[in-house]
Amino acid sequence: MKVLVTGGLGFIGSHTVVELQNEGFEVVIIDNLSNSSEKVLDGIVAVTGKKPLFEKMDLREKAAVQDFFARHSDLAGVIHFAASKAVNESVENPLLYYENNINTLVYILQELQKMESANFIFSSSCTVYGEADVMPITESAPVKPALSPYGNTKQIGEEIITETCKVSRINSILLRYFNPIGAHPSAHIGELPIGVPQNLVPFITQTGIGIREQLSVYGDDYPTTDGTCIRDYIHVVDLAKAHVVALQRLINKKNVDKVETFNLGTGTGSSVLEVITTFEKVSGKPLPYQIVGRREGDIITAYANTDKANNVLGWKAKSTLEDGLTSAWKWEQKIRS
Ligand code: NAD
Repeated sequence: MKVLVTGGLGFIGSHTVVELQNEGFEVVIIDNLSNSSEKVLDGIVAVTGKKPLFEKMDLREKAAVQDFFARHSDLAGVIHFAASKAVNESVENPLLYYENNINTLVYILQELQKMESANFIFSSSCTVYGEADVMPITESAPVKPALSPYGNTKQIGEEIITETCKVSRINSILLRYFNPIGAHPSAHIGELPIGVPQNLVPFITQTGIGIREQLSVYGDDYPTTDGTCIRDYIHVVDLAKAHVVALQRLINKKNVDKVETFNLGTGTGSSVLEVITTFEKVSGKPLPYQIVGRREGDIITAYANTDKANNVLGWKAKSTLEDGLTSAWKWEQKIRS
């Protein structure tokens, strides 16, 4: 069965391609390499022994998207990762984000709408919940006004998919990721942030290896156990596996609704200081950090209620924070060696 993975050379996409190939799927990747490298293909081959098909293409080019689907009318599903994801950049250049995250989605759905049937999986985010009123966060928690154009593209994306599925033969699963971390345990693939990392874990591993002088912890006076913000860190391999399970659910027509939504997290919240301490434990290195003022727009606490993913989707995160940080550290050491 052939599956299109857009953004398949990126962080989460590459790990998902590995899990799809491990389950026997034939994978076609579309990526414009705006935030990745063709070398990731070698990493995928090193893990799976199999090279996926790869088409370098910018999904903002509607004619190219149309041409791709005309050549691949036999897709069992599409997993759509391709998007821009830097929150700060989205505030500075919102139209770049609306063009890259919304236009590309519309072009793909327009082609899927022409098919006899289509299965579509979308990368959404826990950012849609904003500062949720109740912890852990269930899928029925209200969607709060987005705090950035990036966050807004995820909310609008979910709406576009929901409205389109209602009037077409497309079935879809919206996956709301909490905080993906880590790398493949083989260290053949991992996260490759361009420039200064926006996320905590790559910043920590880059500080651990000496590329960054020290980590800034934004605020230690929040109403949490140790005053720092709390997140649900989910290992990227667990996350990747959830995409395979979701795709199989759609292919086997086990979905109950045309559009289903699942939280993908571990169900456990960890504070920034806990992440630092755990990193120090797994790396055996002290991590230089300083407490600085709060950062505007930061959510205080977000961790998932995973009952629906566990019981309905039949998926459960297996790895711990320690596993995630161990693999991230191994990856950081490998790419700097
Ligand atoms: P990533 O940047 O590593 O991967 C995205 C890939 O898409 C990159 O390889 C990039 O080159 C490609 N791409 C971007 N625009 C494209 C275009 N117009 N045409 C073709 N290819 C294009 O990001 P990631 O962390 O793997 O995230 C994957 C998805 O998950 C994104 O939609 C992101 O918004 C979402 N998400 C990520 C996180 C996170 O913390 N990493 C959290 C929640 C949701």
